[in-house]
Amino acid sequence: MEKKIIIDVQNLVKTYGNFEAIKGINFQVFEGEIFGLLGPNGAGKSTTLEIIETLREKTSGIITVAGFDVDTQASEIKKIIGVQLQASGFYPGLNLAELIQLFAGLYNEKIQPIELLEKVNLADKAKAKYKELSGGQKQRFSIATTLINKPQIIFLDEPTTGLDPQARRNLWELIAEIRKQGTTVIITTHYMDEAEVLCDRVAIVDAGKIIALNTPSQLIDDLVSTGFERPVQVKKANLEDVFIQLTGYSIREA
Ligand code: ADP
Repeated sequence: MEKKIIIDVQNLVKTYGNFEAIKGINFQVFEGEIFGLLGPNGAGKSTTLEIIETLREKTSGIITVAGFDVDTQASEIKKIIGVQLQASGFYPGLNLAELIQLFAGLYNEKIQPIELLEKVNLADKAKAKYKELSGGQKQRFSIATTLINKPQIIFLDEPTTGLDPQARRNLWELIAEIRKQGTTVIITTHYMDEAEVLCDRVAIVDAGKIIALNTPSQLIDDLVSTGFERPVQVKKANLEDVFIQLTGYSIREA
C-alpha cells in the first residue's frame, strides 16, 4: 500500500547566531505512523519539532505539513496539529474540566471535557487541580490537551521522562490507542526501549544531523549484520522485568 507523506522536511537548517543547530536534515513522516526523533541532549530534536509546529522560525529549508507550507500557511497547520501545552498555562485555580473548557474556547472548539478526560483515563479527576495529579496523570492530561482540536498530527516531546515503569507503560498504551484512531504521532524520547515498542520508524539525530532513519527492527538488524554482538551474555530478563513482575502493571496514582 502506498504510504501518504503527511510531514515533509527538506534541507532544514537552523542557526542560532553563528551556531548551526540543525545542519540540513531531510525526513518524511507517513500518515498514521508513530515517528520517533531520538538523540542525545542538544541534538536538535526540540528545535526541529518547534519549527514543524510553526512555533519557531527556520533559517532555510522547505517544510510542508499535510500539504501546507510552514512559511505561508502556518495558521492552516496550527488548525490540524496538536501540541502539548506548557504546564505554566495550567491556571492553578481551575480544575481539569475547566482547563479543557478554557483551551477548547481558545481553539474555538465545542467539546465535552469529560469525554476527553475519559479518553486519557482521567474522568475521575475532572474536579481535581493540575497540581494535585501524579506525574503520570499530569502527562496524560498534557496529552489530552493535544487532542482538543481533533488534530491529524500530535507532537509529544519526551512524554514519559521522569515516570515510573507502570506509568510509562500506561502512557505507551494511550499513545498507541491515539494512533489506532488515526492520528499521526511524532514523539521524542531518550528511552530506547520505548522507541522500540512504540515507534514504526525512528530518526536518530546527533549534533544537528540525521545519522540513521529506519524501523527499529531494521536498524538493529543492520547493526547485527556488521558483526556487532552484545559483549555479555544477556539474561532472559532484566531488572525492569523483575520490578514489573513484583509490583504489577497497574498504576499507583489513585
Ligand atoms: P534537543 O531537543 O535535542 O535537546 P535542542 O533543539 O533543544 O536539542 O537544541 C539544539 C542545540 O541548539 C543545542 O546546542 C542548544 O543549546 C541550541 N539552542 C536551542 N535553542 C536555542 C536558542 N534559543 N538560542 C541559542 N541556542 C539554542
